[in-house]
Amino acid sequence: MSAKSAYKVVTFSGGVHPDYDGKDLTRECAITEAPLLDQYQVIVHQNIGAPPKVIVNTGDEVKKGQVIAEANGFVSVPLHAPTSGEIGKPIEVPGPMGTNVPVVVIDADGKDEWGELMPPIDWKNSDGDTIKDRIRAAGIVGMGGAAFPTHVKLSPPADKKIDYMILNGAECEPYLTADHRLMLEQPEKVLAGAAILAKSIGVENIYIGIELNKQNAIDTLLAKADEYNVKIIGLKVLYPQGAEKQLIYAATGRKVPAGGLPMEAGCVVQNVATAAAVFDAVVEGKPLIERITTITGTPVVKPGNWKLRMGYTVAQALELAGGVKENPGKLILGGPMMGFAQKSLQVPIAKNSSGILLLARNEVVQYESMPCIRCGKCVGACPMNLLPGTLSSQIESESFDLAEQYNVMDCIECGSCAYICPSNRPLVQHFRRAKAEINMKRRAQQKK
Ligand code: SF4
Ligand code: SF4
Repeated sequence: MSAKSAYKVVTFSGGVHPDYDGKDLTRECAITEAPLLDQYQVIVHQNIGAPPKVIVNTGDEVKKGQVIAEANGFVSVPLHAPTSGEIGKPIEVPGPMGTNVPVVVIDADGKDEWGELMPPIDWKNSDGDTIKDRIRAAGIVGMGGAAFPTHVKLSPPADKKIDYMILNGAECEPYLTADHRLMLEQPEKVLAGAAILAKSIGVENIYIGIELNKQNAIDTLLAKADEYNVKIIGLKVLYPQGAEKQLIYAATGRKVPAGGLPMEAGCVVQNVATAAAVFDAVVEGKPLIERITTITGTPVVKPGNWKLRMGYTVAQALELAGGVKENPGKLILGGPMMGFAQKSLQVPIAKNSSGILLLARNEVVQYESMPCIRCGKCVGACPMNLLPGTLSSQIESESFDLAEQYNVMDCIECGSCAYICPSNRPLVQHFRRAKAEINMKRRAQQKK
């Protein structure tokens, strides 16, 4: 390795090594553009924050990229038509979180005609606000999972100095390879996107963290990184290496304080797919209407990485992958550690749908949860230095105030503790319940 291409290798404490990462199923599968559909069902609320306000009516003609729902407040982004066609009747369909959600229906006209694109921005000579406004206008949210509006993350309060822009290319979730393929196939988009994100907040230190099981992606980005003033960091293969706080610690040695946000450690973290979407928006004037999704699992006939427009359903995506060889035991949107199990194949994919995973029946073993044996394994695995076993006992006895004192709100729901627990305790479910209860209490107190 030449001095120019050298990169440091870092990690964090805690975490787990899943026995099988499933990435061999798709890591060699090049990104394939999905064919056009006759109809798209676009979920209206795809971001954390306020849902956008739908501005089209049944019968309206729309062009590809046209705004179909306007941002509704600062923590909100607009939604754009994934193709040209006619707006259908509004309906509700099963959503990724298990409840029905409203969708905008577009009956495609088959022409796939763009509307007027936004003018390209000369980002090197633009101010930060111009870039942030464009990122917002393009409807960009965190595509690694959280779907938090990107322009909000790029708008820290004036007293918070940001020193580092860190891109997450770890893709530490088992089975997923969409970000890996993106870095291999479109490295300059990722690098330029990183530089644009950094420019928008006036930051000069730009890092991209990549797990060492993607050596070819590391080499590909290293070859061009200097041109964009980006530093590549090798991350040891350990789950959840890509979680924000773990990535910040690994990259900079800084710790985000308990209950705090990355900005309190002077960092902003974005996903590599988000950076590529930022490039499309700023340089090419294109809004976010599609993403790369890994369609995978042993029951899938032809696992692969597909570029899907918003509004493809899980069923239509699985058809692209040749359907299934056997009846699956579980369907997950996302990866097996942090993804969400689905009951319906009619769920449309959204901006944060990184994967569609089918697990075989024999891969989904139904364990019975048993009492905590105080083995402490969960403590060693927790990347947030929490006491998962203690917390789960507190939550079982409904002592939510105590769980709050023991920092349950810092849990990042990575699932490492549940993965390693010999008593098969449903730890993450406990923590989600406690967080919901505590948030409800906080909201009630704010209203008083
Ligand atoms: S307590 Fe939360 S952060 Fe810690 S390992 Fe469990 S799920 Fe991850
Ligand atoms: S790993 Fe499971 S059994 Fe062991 S201490 Fe944690 S919760 Fe209890």
